[in-house]
Amino acid sequence: MSQIPDHCGDVGPGWGGILEALHQRLKLIDKSYTVNKVFTDEFGILRVYLVNETPEMWQCITDAEDRSRHTCEECGSGARNFNSGSGGWMTRCRTHDPHIEREELW
Ligand SMILES: [Zn+2]
Repeated sequence: MSQIPDHCGDVGPGWGGILEALHQRLKLIDKSYTVNKVFTDEFGILRVYLVNETPEMWQCITDAEDRSRHTCEECGSGARNFNSGSGGWMTRCRTHDPHIEREELW
């Protein structure tokens, strides 16, 4: 039995606020909801899988995943989702963008 606070360390600290808000929403639906997995997918987006997820829970999770698309995984600032160039995607703000020299992309 694990819930979102047990999995906050599974993704970057910048998404902590998103996960906390999601935890609060899920608790209102089912106090004993159970997490299967929290991770960053190959597109650099937050993913949350629950055990026995209802359509209502799925909607809350989708909202959180959409927020992660615009939130830096390192610090929680406004961010963009981009291909890191080394085979993976990530969501980072300007400060944490490893390709900061490519300013034209902004
Ligand atoms: Zn950042």
